[in-house]
Amino acid sequence: VTAVSEALLKCDGERLWASLMRMAKIGATEKGGVCRLTATDLDREARDLFARWCEEAGCTVKIDRLGNMFARRPGRDASRFPIALGSHLDSQPTGGKFDGALGVLAGLEAVRTLNHHNIETAAAIEVVNWTNEEGSRFAPPMTSSGAYAGVFTVDYAESRADTDGRTLGEEMRRIGYAGPEDVGAHRLGAYLELHIEQGPVLEAERKLVGIVTGGQAQRWYEATVVGQEAHAGPTPMDRRRDALVAAARMVEAVNAIGHEFQPGACATVGHLQVHPNSRNVVPGRVFFAVDFRHPDDAVLSEMDTALRERAAAVAAASGVALDLDCIWHCPPTRFDAECIDAVRSAARDLGLPAREMISGAGHDAIYVAKAAPTAMIFVPCRDGISHNEAEYASPEACAAGCDVLLNAALRLAGRD
Ligand SMILES: [Zn+2]
Repeated sequence: VTAVSEALLKCDGERLWASLMRMAKIGATEKGGVCRLTATDLDREARDLFARWCEEAGCTVKIDRLGNMFARRPGRDASRFPIALGSHLDSQPTGGKFDGALGVLAGLEAVRTLNHHNIETAAAIEVVNWTNEEGSRFAPPMTSSGAYAGVFTVDYAESRADTDGRTLGEEMRRIGYAGPEDVGAHRLGAYLELHIEQGPVLEAERKLVGIVTGGQAQRWYEATVVGQEAHAGPTPMDRRRDALVAAARMVEAVNAIGHEFQPGACATVGHLQVHPNSRNVVPGRVFFAVDFRHPDDAVLSEMDTALRERAAAVAAASGVALDLDCIWHCPPTRFDAECIDAVRSAARDLGLPAREMISGAGHDAIYVAKAAPTAMIFVPCRDGISHNEAEYASPEACAAGCDVLLNAALRLAGRD
């Protein structure tokens, strides 16, 4: 047992777990997961419960036009911007109990713990619920943290439509959570987000805490390969310009590039359309999407060059035409040094096994980092599984992440 200094606070892990399990009943699925899509009646129920819990903990809840919720526990010094702790309460259609909810409810648990110990902070502490992080009902993801940080306009965010043509703006009004505050007007002194890792690294290394120093750079591509449609019987093999065979070689090249640029590279083709997609027709046209990620933008550029060279070589050798476009480039995010240090110090002082890492996935924190000093904390989830009803993080891991969140927040907010 590591001796914990008196200055450190510990959250009530059982209370946090009970809150997580209570919240998971809203939208609970038969397989033990959660389906709580943005701006549905279930989302309203989750927001009502969260707001009630925050008010019972003495917080005042403010809501902006997109439904971002800020629950404030006042500080001693009203001139300081608040230290915000948060994540999201929406889920994937077959999501789990922890993705998002952990970061919001750990923020609430931090407030409850401060109340229990009667601790006053210099800066206020706020718990934040960002609207539509998952993007599964309304694309793109991280819509409202993006609007908060100025990445999207509020009009753009409000006009995002689901498959039935209903917009995020009208649906937020329908559930009563399009609030009076201007989006982005509410400034934060710092933002900390606790989240499950959604990958296997912490579990494999038996670490309880990931000190997240940033997010990786990403490039998205769209490729169209055009060959010639032909009858699968009368057309000899040496006369074919098969778009799917060429595309398959390009998919192999994408995968090979991912392996060559280790450590750190991820390279994926997750979407492919074959035309005319008929069993006795040599495919004439194929469309596919490429997702490239790397923590270092310079390496990502080398991957870009490799993809363009190899895809062009495959096209030439296969007698097909290739149209390859990079449709999105997101540079890497480097979180704030002081916020990272607050997380690092909290994990060290608590004696928790920790490692520094980069976030492989998108999070609200990636956008909020453009508007306020930000860092993230990861905790392990079983088998690295997330966006899945089987998603699971242990009570011990949730409590450890919450303890780091709480003590990092105290360090940033200043206490008496
Ligand atoms: Zn999430």
